[in-house]
Amino acid sequence: MAVLDVVLWPAQVLETRATEVSEFDESLRRFVADMHETMHDSNGIGLAANQVGDLRRVITMEIPWAARDAEQDEEQFAEPKEWWHDKKFTFINPVITKKAGKFRYQEGCLSFPEIFEFIDRAAEVWVSAQDEYGKSFEIHATGLLSVCIQHELDHIDGVVFINRMSRLKANLARKKLSRAVPT
Ligand SMILES: [Zn+2]
Repeated sequence: MAVLDVVLWPAQVLETRATEVSEFDESLRRFVADMHETMHDSNGIGLAANQVGDLRRVITMEIPWAARDAEQDEEQFAEPKEWWHDKKFTFINPVITKKAGKFRYQEGCLSFPEIFEFIDRAAEVWVSAQDEYGKSFEIHATGLLSVCIQHELDHIDGVVFINRMSRLKANLARKKLSRAVPT
C-alpha cells in the first residue's frame, strides 16, 4: 500500500466528473487500499478518487466514533455510536436513490486546508453502490455518514464544497486559499 498525494484546489481534476468503473481487477483493489491508507494518513473521514488525481468513481470513508476535532462542540462527543462508526466503506459507482430531510453541518475538505463552513445537505440518503469486487450493495445513511457521502459524491461529479456555499462565503474561502497556497 502507498500514501498518495492529495490534490489541492484549484486543480482541474477536482472540477472534472469522474467516470464509471467497469474493471474490478487487482489494480482497482490496490488503488482502493491506497485510498484508505491516504485517507488515514491525512486524518480524513472521506476521500474521493479525484482528490488523488484519479478520475474513477471511487469513494472511501471511515468515520471514527468520539474522535472529533477539538474545535467541534462537546455535544459531538456525547453522540451515540452508530453502526457505521469505525467502519471502512468503499463505494464504487455510487448513486443516491432517495433523499429525505435537511441537515446542516460544518464541513471541511482535504483539498481545502483550513476551510470549514456550514453546508446544507439532506439528512438521510439511500445509496446504491458496488464494492471493489463489483458486488452491489445498498445502505441507508444518516447523520455524519449521510453528510460525508453527499460531500464525496459531489467530488466525483466534479463539484467542490465551495460551490455549495453562498457567493460571499465562497469568495472568502478563495481569498484565504490564495494567501495560503502560492499559485
Ligand atoms: Zn472534500
